[in-house]
Amino acid sequence: MSLLVVGSVALDNIETPIARREKVLGGAAVFFSYVGSFFGPVQMLGVVGEDFPHEHIEMLKSRNIDTTGLEIRKGGKTFAWSGKYFENMNDRETLDTQLNVLGDFKPTLPEEYRRAEYVFLANGAPETQIAVLDQMLGAQLVVADTMDLWINIQKENLLALLKRIDGITLNDSEAKLLSGETNLIKAAKKILELGPRFVIIKKGEHGAMFISKYEIYVIPAYPTDKVLDPTGAGDSFAGGMMAYFASEGKTDSLTIKKALAYGTIVASFTVEGFGLDRLREITKDDIDTRLDQFQQMFAF
Ligand code: AMP
Repeated sequence: MSLLVVGSVALDNIETPIARREKVLGGAAVFFSYVGSFFGPVQMLGVVGEDFPHEHIEMLKSRNIDTTGLEIRKGGKTFAWSGKYFENMNDRETLDTQLNVLGDFKPTLPEEYRRAEYVFLANGAPETQIAVLDQMLGAQLVVADTMDLWINIQKENLLALLKRIDGITLNDSEAKLLSGETNLIKAAKKILELGPRFVIIKKGEHGAMFISKYEIYVIPAYPTDKVLDPTGAGDSFAGGMMAYFASEGKTDSLTIKKALAYGTIVASFTVEGFGLDRLREITKDDIDTRLDQFQQMFAF
């Protein structure tokens, strides 16, 4: 089944307690589509500036990622995010966000993207996410990601979006902020009342939870001691989960649990290197081997 992601394509500046890197290829749509391409083809929609290195686009294309919908804005500069991680590598601070070409991004979907069956609206302005949905021709499963910024400054648009999507992913503090509840299960149930069929709460190194009206699934993060750069873990999680749904073409309970496990496993690889570094070293077999190890950890 076809899979579409819409979101940021970025050149990130990342600072951790042990290293600092500049102009690292990143952005939600990049992590999502790179991870998704282990499972099947991915259509990517986004915008970059003229400064975006061409080899990045060639690399994405070589991975079965369709970049027809990646606009290269003449005279524009690529979105740039700068972040700093603290000692525990779980908490981070945004030092700077240069929206550049992302600031006035008006998504226009190529004809073949409009027929995508599985759609992920990565973190971005809810009004942009809605503009994408307005162009879709009957997607089967639409999941969106959001963040505290949009809950704070575009709540009305976010509430309108929630009525039109199947699922939402957000982190624990964002779930609390959106719902006004401190208990995460209560928070998720309140968010379900706002429209989506399911809510996925990401808890960083503590794993994730899937909550629908009838189901609650929890999954710990895969334990790794090689955390170099957590950037993109959330988008990788979403990429693994959505791409597995698209490859199976269904979302029954067993498929949901396996999709959550794949999301967790790919995210564990992402954090083991800067940007895409670690993901570029691995194959689908490495993902499956780690998935098996993960499964053994629960077998008793
Ligand atoms: P994650 O670590 O999964 O939350 O995603 C990190 C990625 O999100 C980075 O590569 C950033 O380029 C991108 N990002 C950070 N802030 C924003 C924002 N306001 N809008 C869109 N993408 C963002």
